[in-house]
Amino acid sequence: MNFKITLLPGDGIGPEIIAEAVRVLDVIASKYKHSFDLQERLMGGCSIDKYGSSLTDETLADCVASDSVLLGAVGGPKWDDPKAKDRPERGLLALRKGLGVFANLRPIKVHPALMDRSPLKAEKLQGVDILVIRELTGGLYFGFPKGRDIKDGRERAVDTLEYYDYEIKRIMHLAFNLAKGRKKKVTSVDKANVLESSRLWRQIATQIGKENPDVELEHVLVDTASMKLITGPAWMDVVVTENMFGDILTDEASVLAGSMGMLPSASLGESTLGLFEPIHGSAPDIAGKGIANPVGTILSAALMLRHSFKLEAEAAAIEHAVETAITEGARSADIGGTLTTRQMTDEIIKRI
Ligand code: NAD
Repeated sequence: MNFKITLLPGDGIGPEIIAEAVRVLDVIASKYKHSFDLQERLMGGCSIDKYGSSLTDETLADCVASDSVLLGAVGGPKWDDPKAKDRPERGLLALRKGLGVFANLRPIKVHPALMDRSPLKAEKLQGVDILVIRELTGGLYFGFPKGRDIKDGRERAVDTLEYYDYEIKRIMHLAFNLAKGRKKKVTSVDKANVLESSRLWRQIATQIGKENPDVELEHVLVDTASMKLITGPAWMDVVVTENMFGDILTDEASVLAGSMGMLPSASLGESTLGLFEPIHGSAPDIAGKGIANPVGTILSAALMLRHSFKLEAEAAAIEHAVETAITEGARSADIGGTLTTRQMTDEIIKRI
């Protein structure tokens, strides 16, 4: 099969790790007889430098016209000026919106050989295999009114937490569908004891739960969920939650795996076009040194094969190769080894 992929390497370590994911895709293409048509575009700080915009209309149009998008990372101290007209993160938000991706998936698995890298005790990490699904385009980050004013002589700041039923329904459908391919359990996280938006969230989760009787549904308050992620993470499977709760819980959950460099993510919408990227940032402290861990990006490419292209065997082949490489001792610096970015990828490619 033939697929068109837009690569957005971005800034810092982005180009180094995207180059490794491309090597893995080349191996998959030749082994499984696919052709991946790759086009590279600038986004983030590098795009500000060249075009004066973190995401140009042309780049967005190219992304929308492709079958999927693989992103490295954006940002860095060079573009951190709070007074700047444009910032790399703005490009990221515009890209998500432009692609219509409303769900961010973060699978979190703790490899048994890396449990000593995690801040949690190994006994708490046995069997951890969580898929957090975060709503990405609604809630507090997007609601209006938003802003600052002076009211009754006092300075005031306002953000609005707003959800429409359709926004909750579509992400719940996705969560239940994905749960069917896993342990058939959905944990819906909200703050229904306090927030009206959470009461609508819970109402719709319950309704969609009734339509999917083969999947167990539980409701957990966000404060309890954050505690359980540390005290008993193996108890969770598919976790679905709104934007801000998801933002916080996904970062908390990512710590379990021991290194940010290990974890992939997928952002999905109504169509098969998705945005795939590692969860970490551009790591300016190690950029250009050739020591970044490429695993999060390589696993993001695997998620792209699974969710955008429906190439399950190919995705599983990459995931299996990563798992075996780690089991057999392959380690980049962030997980206690000495392998370079390229050598780490070589270990994975050998096992595909
Ligand atoms: P970061 O994730 O870039 O780095 C945090 C720490 O983790 C650093 O010590 C870094 O060296 C290490 N690290 C991250 N990825 C690694 C990898 N693959 N291999 C080995 N070590 C790795 O977070 P930060 O330092 O807070 O942010 C740096 C820049 O990245 C900022 O400009 C920030 O805005 C941006 N950022 C971008 C994204 C994104 O593109 N989606 C996400 C988060 C942060």
